[in-house]
Amino acid sequence: MLVKLSDLTRGRRRLEFSLPVVDVREAIGDRPDIDHLGGAHVVCDAELVDRTLNLRGDISIGLRGACDRCADDFEAAIRLPWRLILVPSRHRPGPEVEDIEFGYYSGEILDLARHALDGIGLSFPEILLCRPDCKGICPDCRANLNREPCRCPS
Ligand SMILES: [Zn+2]
Ligand SMILES: [Zn+2]
Repeated sequence: MLVKLSDLTRGRRRLEFSLPVVDVREAIGDRPDIDHLGGAHVVCDAELVDRTLNLRGDISIGLRGACDRCADDFEAAIRLPWRLILVPSRHRPGPEVEDIEFGYYSGEILDLARHALDGIGLSFPEILLCRPDCKGICPDCRANLNREPCRCPS
């Protein structure tokens, strides 16, 4: 996704683009827990203020894999919040704001796909769960606690 700075001068703009599977796979690296990776879809608002570009949005990535806690296979769309501030390369360093990534651009054309892939590389979860509150497996009786009660004598 290439964007011309001059196209962003009229206030906030909603941008939407997809990233190919092969690039997403490269961004997240080797993940034996993921059986199947879909492409990524990016939706973000872009606002250019005085040559500083604020991007705020979401990246969703469809995948099928094995839960790191209960080992069940699951299919899900992982949603990563994406927040990035891009400043011209001659204006470094960027202002200090916690939890926000900074990047630099030069020239009039920005490669937002590359920046989004960098964002995926930084924030893709190390651990994938079938659901946020997965109860896992009892270490003693091996019951999958999402589906069945623990059979250990109490
Ligand atoms: Zn699980
Ligand atoms: Zn048990």
